[in-house]
Amino acid sequence: MRDMSRLNPATIAAQAAGAVDTQSGGVVPALPMATTYLRGEDYQPLRPDNIYLRDQSDIVRVAETVLAQLEGAADALLFPSGMAAIAAAFRTVPNGGRVLMQSQIYWGTTKWVRDFCARREIELREVEASDTDAFTRLCETFKPTLALIETPSNPWLRIVDIEAAAQAAHAAGGILVVDSTAATPILQKPLSLGADIVMHSATKGINGHSDVLAGVLAVRDTEQKVWNDIKVDRHDAGAVIGPFEAWLLVRGMRTLPLRMRQMTQNALAVAEFLAEQPQVEAVLYPGLATHAGHKLATSQMAGGYGSLLSCVVRGGADAALQVAGRLNLFHRATSLGGVESLVEHRHTIEPHTGIPEGLLRLSVGIEDIEDLKTDLRTALGN
Ligand code: PLP
Repeated sequence: MRDMSRLNPATIAAQAAGAVDTQSGGVVPALPMATTYLRGEDYQPLRPDNIYLRDQSDIVRVAETVLAQLEGAADALLFPSGMAAIAAAFRTVPNGGRVLMQSQIYWGTTKWVRDFCARREIELREVEASDTDAFTRLCETFKPTLALIETPSNPWLRIVDIEAAAQAAHAAGGILVVDSTAATPILQKPLSLGADIVMHSATKGINGHSDVLAGVLAVRDTEQKVWNDIKVDRHDAGAVIGPFEAWLLVRGMRTLPLRMRQMTQNALAVAEFLAEQPQVEAVLYPGLATHAGHKLATSQMAGGYGSLLSCVVRGGADAALQVAGRLNLFHRATSLGGVESLVEHRHTIEPHTGIPEGLLRLSVGIEDIEDLKTDLRTALGN
């Protein structure tokens, strides 16, 4: 491995931060599957840094190094899913602590954090964090131990001012965790804006091929107590990712900058196309000048606005489901960030959370944009 962090993301990603198989001379790192490692006749480990797979794995370290360098982080830790990464961050909050969470973010996070805080007698407040004043005011009075924001948010595509949120959380004596899944490390670098920890569901754009479940936490300063707590908890509680998943991640990330460029370009074209369709009531995409968070997204993101967008079809749930049902190229499936385009009717999944009945969430892939537009045009009945 080499420290490539001063090189550009496309170079770090394509060369997997310099990882090769030093034993065979292969240009791709090996996939060691052993769960335990040998000791010599003197009972000393042959490799002191490799004892047992729950503790150490060469290929997991490779994937974490690539992620840390892409994110501009001091360190990164992989988890077996995005939710496992979020849970690891929240488990550092002491019983009786205070958590501030952005409202209307990914439903899986909202549900788990609510249950967790109730169980641990942690006081929880939820706030529309794209309203910077509301977020800052609540930080001043509530003084959260940990604040979580998700930007761009899923599926509302709201944009939160990361720098302002970090300042407010710090002034209150807390830390700021940013779920940056929809942006990936390519389009947004929350740590450089003052966030303490950045989290991704690596299941999404980071892997990009809809065949790995993974999560990552990356930190700005390894001296922070919270990072040591997370490391110890991952080690002791065993929320570790398997070697094959890590190896697939290393492979997938080689094309991450390339994929994000194409996906973000396609997503913008899809958003502009949908905005012109009479059957579409609203398009939620920060790349559109009409979006409330457009200016902020332009200043705190770089290279595009991501592959995720939502639109509201006129006529409610029936009309939206009909459009989804007529799509041929967009797979009807949950998730996002893969090379293939997906469509999801979120109201079916989370009916009681205020999601508009006509909302369709699209994850735009790398297919030819004209084919995608034709698919959408046909599905809308034009
Ligand atoms: N955060 C966001 C923004 C997500 O969209 C998701 C999953 O959809 C998660 C976290 C959870 O990640 P995972 O499914 O890898 O556990």
